[in-house]
Amino acid sequence: MKSLRELYRIGQGPSSSHTMGPRMAAERVLQQNPDAAVFRVTLYGSLAATGEGHLTDYAIKQVLGENRTEIVWHPEIVPSFHPNGMKFEALDSNRQCYYEWTVYSIGGGALAEEGASPIDTPEIYELDHLADIQEWCRTRGKNYWEYVEECEGQEIWDYLAEVWQVMKAAVERGIDHEGVLPGCLNLRRKAPDYYIKAMGYGANLQTRGLVFSYALAVSEENASGGQIVTAPTCGACGVVPAVLYHIQKSRKFSDKRIYHALATAGIIGNIAKSRASISGAEAGCQAEVGVACAMAAAAANYIFGGSLATIEYAAEMGLEHHLGMTCDPVCGLVQIPCIERNAHAAARALDANIYATYAEGIHRIPYDKTVEVMKQTGHDLPSLYRETSEGGLAKEFKSV
Ligand code: SF4
Repeated sequence: MKSLRELYRIGQGPSSSHTMGPRMAAERVLQQNPDAAVFRVTLYGSLAATGEGHLTDYAIKQVLGENRTEIVWHPEIVPSFHPNGMKFEALDSNRQCYYEWTVYSIGGGALAEEGASPIDTPEIYELDHLADIQEWCRTRGKNYWEYVEECEGQEIWDYLAEVWQVMKAAVERGIDHEGVLPGCLNLRRKAPDYYIKAMGYGANLQTRGLVFSYALAVSEENASGGQIVTAPTCGACGVVPAVLYHIQKSRKFSDKRIYHALATAGIIGNIAKSRASISGAEAGCQAEVGVACAMAAAAANYIFGGSLATIEYAAEMGLEHHLGMTCDPVCGLVQIPCIERNAHAAARALDANIYATYAEGIHRIPYDKTVEVMKQTGHDLPSLYRETSEGGLAKEFKSV
């Protein structure tokens, strides 16, 4: 598995696969072809189907130059390697093509060439099954975060500290940011109202309302192109910060414990990323919000003193109960159903934590198996439900 730096990427929303990945690819193309007269960028499959709403063309033009970049849209061509394909061409002043590169944005901001492993990212984790990592921990009397430290070195804590600062800043900006989100839906931001209302309620309702407001805050920041951390993606970036922010604020846990929780959640997300998918275009929303819920559930369970087994069960439950969830963003924007979905998944992660604690971690289906099922279920989903905005809510909304 790759470093957690690849999973937790700090960047601008609204989409890790449709905005961050294409932006990174464009930066590489520009570095290799600074003097091109024209760049022609052909977008395929899901990138072309929902790229406009996800600001794919905007991100690419920002890097390559508005005046010398042509975007060609081919939603009807779905590459077999991965649905998020793009071809970059550099043309000289006679419009002769002298450079061509086809690359895929495979989720969470990562890029891959056909038949090769993701670009510029060494494998640093030897184990990629949670059962094996659990055994590594058990035989040494260690916890999951210590396996992260073993593989990544001490420097990872500085990075996770930065990640936590960006996550907290996104929550705090979002709960204070009123107005309408960009895009044709004219969707009003909800986080500030949820936060204010929650503060007026009694303890039980308040907890739920605050968690909702924190998740809405980060997701709304993402939808408006604000700075967030992929956890594991932009579309699902509200779940982990909401849960951790709420727990830290209400229980006064130290930053150090939050970093260890982020490392624990990182293992959960990394396993899904390396052995299945964290791309809505490849495997539906179960791979984005479902994995985010699993990460947040594991993080919460660790913070509250869970065992290796209860952490594993919390993660498994977070993912299992999102299996089959489709990706059908209305108008190709990362807004409906994405924003509310983050709020619900944050609440569900806290429930999964409690449920796993009651069960003492005893359960039948291991997280590793659920990851395999998620991958297969994702591949069984028709492309209508994998970030093409042609089915589900996206289709119904268009027909209203
Ligand atoms: S529906 Fe889920 S997977 Fe699809 S864009 Fe929204 S958050 Fe991402």
